[in-house]
Amino acid sequence: MNYETVIGLEVHLQLKTKSKAFCGCSTEFGQEPNTQVCPVCLGFPGSLPVFNQTALDYAIKVALALNCKIQEYTKFDRKNYFYPDLPKNYQISQYDLPLSLAGYLDIELEERQKRIGITRVHMEEDAGKLIHQENFSLVDFNRTGIPLLEIVSEPDISSPEEAHEYLTTLKSVIQYLDVSDCDMEKGSLRCDANISLRPVGAKTLGVKTELKNMNSFKGVKDALAYEIQRQAGLLDSKKTLIQETRLWDAKAAQTLPMRTKEGAKDYRYFPEPDLAPFIIKEDKIAEIKKTIPELPKEKIKRFVKDFGLSEYDAKVLVALKETAQFSEECLKEYRDSNKKPVANWIIGPLAALASNNACEITDLKISAASLVELIELVEKKQVISNLTGKIVLEEMLKTGKGAQKIIEEKNLAQISDSGSLNVIIAEIIKENPKSVADYKTGKANALMFLVGQVMRKSSGKANPKAVQDLLKEKLESV
Ligand SMILES: [Zn+2]
Repeated sequence: MNYETVIGLEVHLQLKTKSKAFCGCSTEFGQEPNTQVCPVCLGFPGSLPVFNQTALDYAIKVALALNCKIQEYTKFDRKNYFYPDLPKNYQISQYDLPLSLAGYLDIELEERQKRIGITRVHMEEDAGKLIHQENFSLVDFNRTGIPLLEIVSEPDISSPEEAHEYLTTLKSVIQYLDVSDCDMEKGSLRCDANISLRPVGAKTLGVKTELKNMNSFKGVKDALAYEIQRQAGLLDSKKTLIQETRLWDAKAAQTLPMRTKEGAKDYRYFPEPDLAPFIIKEDKIAEIKKTIPELPKEKIKRFVKDFGLSEYDAKVLVALKETAQFSEECLKEYRDSNKKPVANWIIGPLAALASNNACEITDLKISAASLVELIELVEKKQVISNLTGKIVLEEMLKTGKGAQKIIEEKNLAQISDSGSLNVIIAEIIKENPKSVADYKTGKANALMFLVGQVMRKSSGKANPKAVQDLLKEKLESV
């Protein structure tokens, strides 16, 4: 049987405000357990929450960037459930009047774009964290009350690959807004997935499962791929699927049942009596709109148009805001209409260097001006070869010196003047009569062999292009 897959994603995003959503406690990550707590976030009787205005501004910013309609009238609700990491026994969330509705995010697939609907972006607070030991569990309430956004997509996603692309695009947009660390390892970005299958062409949705416990985008993709196989197997053998929550076990590469899924009615939602409903005015929305920077999608278009880059190169350069800014500086600084070498150097050797140092490109202490100096020495002036260029780049990182200086100090400049090269070429021709004869009878690789010999004799410093040209010229006259 052929099935089509229906996926919806729920992303939880921690906002990087200095203090928590409803009290003044710090949100800093990695501090001693239970040192960032107070009566409000511990849910002591008689304490009252006060809403963090920065959290609201950040939330509106994200909702606008995701093309959502901000609701004028909004309120908080209590979502009631018991769990040891939830000291109040309820979470302050939003139920029937969320901050925003009906947005979308466009994702790039192979050769086409797809619009994924965003059902809603609403505000809530994070719970604490359980740390499980062998025979007991500990609870850390430092995370309790950190502002969260829940970003719920429509079930418009049709494959694990699309889910991965949606998450990557979403993360990139949010990083541009500078409102969250988006670090899945630290838990500041988390994702749950709803997935169901239905026979191709069917109108009604199949029974869905909710997947949790994925700790990376790859984990989300793998868990979804596993779940498609599992559900298809059950449907093929006419067994019943039950609606449930399943946990992804990355080590065993499978999903396991966790519990049957609660419905909204189980949470006994009711309006949060300690926080008054509020109105978001048009001028506030307009003011926040002004703070939204050029987002990746627009930047890609502009890089393609202004710098003549391919969509692919532009997309890679633009994915991170800081790298995009650095790349733009380099592209402007490089004095040639063909900007492709700049993209190649950033995506290739520079990215490799960053990866080897386990950091981002912009953490390497190499300025745009000094990178461009190096690229020009290789690509335009051909003072050094591409290979030597990579060595110089590493040297730049180690010593902080400029490319030109390193080339001079280490005597790395390649030999391009025909006088010096012709001396070596003459010797090589004399030493290799057989290859010369081979070349004369039309064997093309004889030329490459001779070029190699010249390169060797020059200790790799001859300019290979110049050698080839001069050698051809010389061989014609032999
Ligand atoms: Zn607190």
